[in-house]
Amino acid sequence: ISETMEGSTGRVAKKKVAVVGGGLVGALNACFFAKRGFDVEVFETREDIRLAKIVKGRSINLALSHRGRQALKHVGIEEKIVSKGIPMHARMIHSLTGKQSPIPYGKKGQYILSVDRANLNKVLLTEAETYPNTKLNFDHKLQDWSVETGLMTFVRSDGSKKQTTADLIVGCDGAFSATRKQFLRQTRFNYSQTYIPHGYMELTMLPINGEFAMRPNYLHIWPRNTFMMIALPNLDKTFTCTLFMPFDEFEKITTGDQVIEFFQKYFPDTIPLIGVDTLKRDYFRLPAQAMVSVKCSPYHIGDKCVLMGDAAHAVVPFYGQGMNAGFEDCNVFDEIMDQFSEDLSAVLPEYSRVRVPDDHAIADLAMYNYVEMRAHVNSRWFLFRKYLDNL
Ligand code: FAD
Repeated sequence: ISETMEGSTGRVAKKKVAVVGGGLVGALNACFFAKRGFDVEVFETREDIRLAKIVKGRSINLALSHRGRQALKHVGIEEKIVSKGIPMHARMIHSLTGKQSPIPYGKKGQYILSVDRANLNKVLLTEAETYPNTKLNFDHKLQDWSVETGLMTFVRSDGSKKQTTADLIVGCDGAFSATRKQFLRQTRFNYSQTYIPHGYMELTMLPINGEFAMRPNYLHIWPRNTFMMIALPNLDKTFTCTLFMPFDEFEKITTGDQVIEFFQKYFPDTIPLIGVDTLKRDYFRLPAQAMVSVKCSPYHIGDKCVLMGDAAHAVVPFYGQGMNAGFEDCNVFDEIMDQFSEDLSAVLPEYSRVRVPDDHAIADLAMYNYVEMRAHVNSRWFLFRKYLDNL
């Protein structure tokens, strides 16, 4: 049996998998490995987010699409997540005059879902914990690991250290992966990282008279060529608006009045919806966040370690596929495990072979959509209206 080893006692011991990172992809991956019967340990830097008052993440909500849903289905939690998602059937383009025009995502009935990141992460962690062969370790930050021995060193917030080994290390520790550090020392490992000139800032649009301030079943977009704002609905009837703009432009705005002046010029329809005072306050609540695109290959070292999710491929968020691609990584890896009867020395290279080109394609598409969403969507919308007018 390939996933088991004969221990010195003669007892059949299951192989141990260490998943580094208990974010979206790490928590899901723990379920995949647990389902196969491996002994799974997750090591996560943060405290348990299910107990925390404030959950820091890379965005408040995100768009879940087919790829991601397939992976959730595999571990039996698709419905749990979908039932708490809000379908978005189309992009709703807001012109400068406040005119709104929908552009469907696909055929009638097709949609993507707006889901709450914190809730999704919590559900995934709880699901992972339902497997008796899974252990979650919070407040464990991977400091380094040894390619030769597989020994991992974790640091805890009180400064103490813990060391452990595993048969397989799965790096799901995000765009700034500590697991990936050892890959950079390997010969013929390719790596590139690009920061785009834009940053992002999230602003909340509260409900008005207990109802959504805008139509909920859309991904709202205000494309303004060199920058844009988008808004996704939340279950509590708020919208999370995300302003994407070059850092230079963010920095030019230093007073509350300048914020309003800027919104008056570019997003006038949102001022009464977000509120003047809220805008003046929230714009300065947190600095704009950077966005990085990371490409690397291969995704594995021998039969010891493999990278998945943002640790393998951080993409810019404009295609709404970062998490979805990360979830698909888990699915693809799982299929290869079947194909090669869980022989890790064959599975890992095959995973890199089939997955690298697809993830690089997603990264390129995301970079392309960076321009599509803020600029082309304007001209395309114009052509689309013309086409409709001529029907
Ligand atoms: P992360 O979510 O970054 O999780 C990594 C985890 O590892 C974290 O919990 C972290 O605490 C932990 N960790 C880090 N270092 C260590 C360490 N040394 N030791 C132990 N643990 C560690 N994707 C979509 O599919 N749809 C969207 O609509 C979408 N919108 C987005 C909007 C924005 C503004 C941004 C920035 C991203 C968006 N994404 C979207 C991308 C998505 O956020 C990521 O692809 C996704 O979070 C990747 O999940 P992950 O688990 O690989 O990494």
